Amino acid sequence: MQERIYCPKCKAPMELIIEKVSSADGTIRYVYAYKCKACGTRIDDAILLMKKSEGGYEARAVEHVS
Ligand SMILES: [Zn+2]
Repeated sequence: MQERIYCPKCKAPMELIIEKVSSADGTIRYVYAYKCKACGTRIDDAILLMKKSEGGYEARAVEHVS
């Protein structure tokens, strides 16, 4: 992603975290979010959908949350 994001509440630099969520149908969702270590504020940035196909995983869609 881009340059540093600062927390809207306490102005501390936020950390990019990526969460992997897999569902029963083989779809994997990667949730990109920024988290403030100082106050715990979280901002969801984007969700990347990965679908299982014959050749492996294939990126399906990116949803921008904010
Ligand atoms: Zn904060």
